[in-house]
Amino acid sequence: VNDSTIPVEAIPAMAHHGGTHALTSSPVVGSPSRAYEPVFRPGAEALELDEIRVTVLGSGDPFPRRAQASGSILIEVGNPQRDLFLFDLGSGALANLGSLELPVESINKVFLTHLHADHTGDLIGLFGGYAKAGRTDPIEVWGGSSDVPGLGVGAFVEHLLGLCRWDRSSLMGWRPTSGFDATVHELPFDEPATIYERNHVQIRSFPAIHGLNGALSYRLDFGGCSVVFSGDTRPNRFLVEAARGTDLLIHECFQPPAVVAEASGLDPDVIALVLKAVHTIPDQVGQIFAMARPRMSALWHLDLRPGVEAVLADVRRHYDGPVVVTQDLTVFNITPGAVVVRQAQTDPLPPIAHGPSMKPPRTESPLAIPAWFQDAILEI
Ligand SMILES: [Zn+2]
Ligand SMILES: [Zn+2]
Repeated sequence: VNDSTIPVEAIPAMAHHGGTHALTSSPVVGSPSRAYEPVFRPGAEALELDEIRVTVLGSGDPFPRRAQASGSILIEVGNPQRDLFLFDLGSGALANLGSLELPVESINKVFLTHLHADHTGDLIGLFGGYAKAGRTDPIEVWGGSSDVPGLGVGAFVEHLLGLCRWDRSSLMGWRPTSGFDATVHELPFDEPATIYERNHVQIRSFPAIHGLNGALSYRLDFGGCSVVFSGDTRPNRFLVEAARGTDLLIHECFQPPAVVAEASGLDPDVIALVLKAVHTIPDQVGQIFAMARPRMSALWHLDLRPGVEAVLADVRRHYDGPVVVTQDLTVFNITPGAVVVRQAQTDPLPPIAHGPSMKPPRTESPLAIPAWFQDAILEI
């Protein structure tokens, strides 16, 4: 069957073409208990007590672009603490996070699906940049362990903090440096585990199949609702089992091999082998959605440049439920009554928002100021 002959539902224009709605023909599933504005604006909507809000901070692939940052999602929950959870932080995602005008002090929990650059590229900015912006609490990082020494998330964070050493030292004596501290949780790479239970939020990890041991997917439960985030993976049974009946399943999806080869200029045979070994293509995503049957399904990590019509046609061969193609700043509101998806409209030059810290800030003694500075300084 030629994909182009299959009728696909009409979807709105993409955001970088001026579109203001999420890429779906089903923006509302269920019966919302309150009215939602047509677009989401930061600061304009408090979360309900039983609500989860999921914002895609990076919808793209290893080649970050202005319209598509590399992989990252943010989950906010309506508990009294208003906890925030970052899942991955690829290059460009931090600027999208900043545009949501959330308190920098609250950005202190990061769950990594794996350690590819397109899922970790903005972490230095989260440590060093946000420490200067006012986050004095340490960051907790969760990620995969490994059977190979040096490949677990513990070693990754240790080296990351090493890379931040000059940055941290430059603040000593001037500003708190406790924002450069981290607590690391290494998670099992070969079996599901409950890894987080605080303030009415539960998070589970389960293995992803993505090249090496240590790649994970996650499920977050709060207020009777849930979100499943695949990270990068080829189709696998752990994900289908964890996602069965979930409210929102965000699953990775690459364009088909021939399209990726054309778009990237790389060898089609190599691309086909790589995608088959470690990723998921639209025809497979449709089958995963059909097996899991979430309330709402979403494609993520998809290069939007070649278009999405053929992608959706492949998905539709297997699945007729609500499907969203995520873009940067696609926002899902999840309640027991409904799942609603919109695009956010944000300020490109947002102010820095502040909230309370959990712990008293810690400072460190300054290093000596280089003596030769005095000879070079112009006192003007
Ligand atoms: Zn990857
Ligand atoms: Zn990736």
